[in-house]
Amino acid sequence: MLRRVRFSEGVGSSWWRALNFVWSGRGLIDPRWLSDNIVRKIGDGRSTDFWADSWLEVGPLARAFGRFYDLAVNKHISVADMFEAGWALNGNGWKWRRRLFVWEEELVAQCVGVLANFVLQGDATDRWVWNLHPLQSYSVRSAYSYLTASDGSSMEDFASFLWVKSVPLKVNIFIWRLFLNRLPTKDNLLRRGVIEVHQELCSTNCGKAEDVVHLFIQCDVYSQVWHLVLNWLGLSTALHVSLGGHAEQFAGVGGNSKTSRNLFTIIWVLFVIWKDQNDRIFQMGNDSGVTLLERIKLQTYWWLKSHYVLFVFDYPFWRLNPLFCLQAIM
Ligand SMILES: [Zn+2]
Repeated sequence: MLRRVRFSEGVGSSWWRALNFVWSGRGLIDPRWLSDNIVRKIGDGRSTDFWADSWLEVGPLARAFGRFYDLAVNKHISVADMFEAGWALNGNGWKWRRRLFVWEEELVAQCVGVLANFVLQGDATDRWVWNLHPLQSYSVRSAYSYLTASDGSSMEDFASFLWVKSVPLKVNIFIWRLFLNRLPTKDNLLRRGVIEVHQELCSTNCGKAEDVVHLFIQCDVYSQVWHLVLNWLGLSTALHVSLGGHAEQFAGVGGNSKTSRNLFTIIWVLFVIWKDQNDRIFQMGNDSGVTLLERIKLQTYWWLKSHYVLFVFDYPFWRLNPLFCLQAIM
């Protein structure tokens, strides 16, 4: 029951559909593998969703105890608030929309049992950890062996998916948080009581309310960046024809390598947009779309340059021929 962002909704761009395509699990053995293996390590419990986040061995409680999640009055309560209210058998944390049947009461006892020995760490904050690695930090190899152990026949799909994931760790974490809708966008901050209703407006001052779909897709300020990037890649014509028709092409049905290149670029654009949103809030930044495009060109250049032996191009060439350069290595 993770509140995933549905990129397919309200978005005509084939880029977004390509991203959604991967996220929705096309080609994945178990589409839940990603969200299931990013778990919350609880500190004070303040920034973890009691029902939706995976913070116990049973996975998200909303799934393990789906019936109670449906019946729960407060579906967005944090682990800390739930603990304070009391999650013992007759604790005040349990508030139901109707009186429970006897057999349901017995199930509650099971759920309470799962929580029984859980201790909050008041001096630490909650954080995401990658569950598959012994050190609980991200490891491509651990993800890869997990996936390929399940079914060798789909290795190709995973390979391309994980390959795209081979962007910097901080970008990976950002992307996971984005897909789990766990970025501190204004709507999320409002829901957690961090900001007030009148502070909900988009960080670009466009005047609309800020949620993840608005910020990364619909906002006038940032949608301009997508246009500029398409243009840079020489794909500007895609904006003038039926975008939907290009979805399959961009999603890489004709070859995984194309998916890799597109997703690499998409991920980087998302990251730069998010950094810019942060700058606007904390440093009163006001960069133009063109400035952001230049940032994307420069950051991707240095990343590729320092990570791919085959990436032998100089910066002026990269700026002029991005697709050619990407094709050489992906
Ligand atoms: Zn906006």
